[in-house]
Amino acid sequence: MKTELITMAAPARAAERAAAILRAGGLVGLPTETVYGLGADGLNEAAVRRIFEAKGRPQDNPLILHVPEAAWLDRYCLDIPAEARDLAARFWPGPLTMILKRREIVPDAVTCGLETVGVRCPDHPAALAVIRAAGVPVAAPSGNRSGRPSPTCARHMLEDMDGLIEAVVDGGPCGVGVESTILDLTGERPRLLRPGGLPLEALEAVLGQITVDRAVTSPLAAGERPRAPGMKYRHYAPQAPVTVVTGAGADTARYILDHAGPGTGIICFDEYADSFPGCAVRPIGASADTAEQARRVFDALRSFDGAAVTAIYAQCPPDAGLGLAVANRLKKAAGFQIVALEEGA
Ligand code: AMP
Ligand code: MG
Repeated sequence: MKTELITMAAPARAAERAAAILRAGGLVGLPTETVYGLGADGLNEAAVRRIFEAKGRPQDNPLILHVPEAAWLDRYCLDIPAEARDLAARFWPGPLTMILKRREIVPDAVTCGLETVGVRCPDHPAALAVIRAAGVPVAAPSGNRSGRPSPTCARHMLEDMDGLIEAVVDGGPCGVGVESTILDLTGERPRLLRPGGLPLEALEAVLGQITVDRAVTSPLAAGERPRAPGMKYRHYAPQAPVTVVTGAGADTARYILDHAGPGTGIICFDEYADSFPGCAVRPIGASADTAEQARRVFDALRSFDGAAVTAIYAQCPPDAGLGLAVANRLKKAAGFQIVALEEGA
C-alpha cells in the first residue's frame, strides 16, 4: 500500500481528504497536541481491527475514542458522573482521557470487550477538523508500532507505518509530546492510570487527592493484574537497553560518565550536554523545563535506533508536574531498570 502524506497547506481540503479515508474504513496517522495517533472510524469494527494489525498491538489493549466536543460524551458513555462533565469543561480540548461506562454502540474492538471506554477531545486544529468532517468518533492509540516510542512528528509516523496505512496528516511537531493523562472515573474514587500531558496536580486542584496506580511508578509483580491492560506491556523502548538514573543532576551525570563508554547513548538535561565526550548525547531540555523534556523525550529515544548504540543511560526528572509523565516514559522504556542515587550518593 502506498501511504499518502497529506499536508495542511489547504486545511479544509486536507481535513476532507483524511475524513473520506476514515469514512471508507481506512487508517490515517493524525497529529494531536500529545502524540500522533493512528486513527480509524471508531464505530467501524473492521476498520478498528486494522489498527491492531498495523501496530502489532496485543488484542487486549483498548483504544481511546477521540471526540470533537464534550457534548458527544453522552453518545458513547453511560452514567456519566458530574466530575467528568466538570473536568471536560475545564480541560477539553486537552490532554485528558477519561475512562467511563460505555454504551452498547461502542464496538468491542475499541474497548477489547471492557464495559468501559476511554474518551478524549484533542487540542489540535487538524485533529478536530478531521473528526468533525468525518462525523464519527475516531478510535486511536499512539501511531507507533507496538512497544516502540510514540511518534511526535509526521516523520516518526512514516518510520513506523509507511506502506501499512492509507495516509498520514502532517500537522507539524506535537506541542505536548507525551500521551494524554488517563483518569479512571468508574470506581469509587478517581484513579490515575497513566500520567501524561495534563499534570496530576491540575486534576487534584479540582478533585482533591487522586490515587495513583502503582503501575505508574513500579513494574507489575509476577501474576499481578493490571488495572489498564496497556500497563502490562514493555513500552516506548528503543532497540538498545535503557538504564534510568534518578537523583540530583550533578550526581546522575557523574554516575553516567563513570559507566559510559564509546557507543553509549545518553539522554541528559541541557546543562550536562558537554559532559559525555565520545558518547551519543541527546539533550532533552533544561533540568527545570519538564515541558521541553516532554516534547523531546520520544524523539531522543527513537534517535538511537540505527545508530551504533549498544546501551543507553538517561537522567530523569523528579515526579512533579510533567516530570511524572517524562519519568514514567523513561522508566517504562527501561523496563524499570532504575539506579536511584537519591540517598547519600
Ligand atoms: P496508547 O495511547 O497508545 O497508549 O493507547 C491507549 C491507552 O488507553 C492504553 O494505555 C489503554 O490501556 C488505555 N485505555 C483505553 N481504554 C481504556 C479503558 N476502557 N480502560 C483502561 N484503559 C484504557
Ligand atoms: Mg501507545
